[in-house]
Amino acid sequence: FFELVNYTPPDAIFELTKTYNSDPAARKVNLGQGTYKDENGNPWILPAVRSAKEKIKDSNHEYLPILGLPSFRTLATDLIFGKQSGAIREGRVASCQALSGTGALHIAGTLLKQVLGCDTTVYITKPSWSNHRQVFESIGFAVREFNYSSNAGVDMQSLIQTLKEAAPKSIFVFHASAHNPSGWDCSVDQWKQIGAIVKERQLFPLFDAAYLGLTSGDYDRDAFAIRYFADELGLEIAACLSFAKSMGLYSERVGLCAFSSNTPTIAAAVESSLARMIRVEISNPPAFGARIVAAVLEDEELYAQWRKDLVTMSSRIAEMRWQLYQGLTKLCTPGDWKRITEQKGMFCILGLTPDQVHHLQKEYHIYMAESSRVSIAGLNGSNVRYQK
Ligand code: PMP
Repeated sequence: FFELVNYTPPDAIFELTKTYNSDPAARKVNLGQGTYKDENGNPWILPAVRSAKEKIKDSNHEYLPILGLPSFRTLATDLIFGKQSGAIREGRVASCQALSGTGALHIAGTLLKQVLGCDTTVYITKPSWSNHRQVFESIGFAVREFNYSSNAGVDMQSLIQTLKEAAPKSIFVFHASAHNPSGWDCSVDQWKQIGAIVKERQLFPLFDAAYLGLTSGDYDRDAFAIRYFADELGLEIAACLSFAKSMGLYSERVGLCAFSSNTPTIAAAVESSLARMIRVEISNPPAFGARIVAAVLEDEELYAQWRKDLVTMSSRIAEMRWQLYQGLTKLCTPGDWKRITEQKGMFCILGLTPDQVHHLQKEYHIYMAESSRVSIAGLNGSNVRYQK
């Protein structure tokens, strides 16, 4: 039966983590996978999450409803759209709990394929997160890349041209904040420009929201584009939310897939469709991560603590960007490094050749993606000036 199965090479980033873990070197630096590490290079359990876990420790193990933990869905929807959102108040938002950001993207794409058909093109940024293409192609969409950024920032000209040339109903996957891997985000004015064309050309905006709160430290600010498109422009949108990075809940696989639609009746139909898709795929989602998120968001004190935790993470990343920039310029390293401090979020593409990347790994035990994308959160005061 299985002779026809082709071998699929392992995922490059997970493979890199495996190689890093098995490297016996005493001094090694992992700048591969985008997971936040504290000042000592250790995984960080957010204080708000630690307290929330204490609060939910006696929860039972019954099944959740098919669409997920109700309190989680309400709180996460409020979080992403904002409590004042017209779409929420008018009952026009459909949502379901999802298996983190990836699961949310997959379920959003699956629903969109039913609605828009498989002739629809999904546009993703170039560069983009390596999984975007796979997720949407696996659903059956044709995926096209468009130039998004250069070393100088967002390539608005190319972005606008692509939007103007795309067929109506094409899906555009936008990174809501902290673009992975470029580190370049659109400004408020740029989002407004993009929004006007999306509306005029009847394109469908899908927001991948994996890093809200980690960019500026302010969740509301990072959610600007989503809220602007859904509420100010009154567009139908998809928002795929992950709590992996913003609460450090990487392995709990907790996320939300939300659609703003035109009427409450449409939202109810969309939600019923989401429920059917979840029922056949996983029957119902896992509870632990959703309970943690709900416990943080529903409690005033824990919520305030979490806002502080976001500032702790985003400011440490900003500080590391600054120290890396200073180190490189002090050593007169060839290249223009200023952009490291101008970019936002976890990542930066250093612009090294694959040979240089391999050299760093082999000789210095510094690990990064072959594209020379580095996760700044892997740096700290002890390793940023690392010399052999
Ligand atoms: N989107 C982007 C842009 C990402 O970088 C990631 C994580 N690396 C995700 C989505 C999804 O992550 P998860 O499934 O772990 O929530």
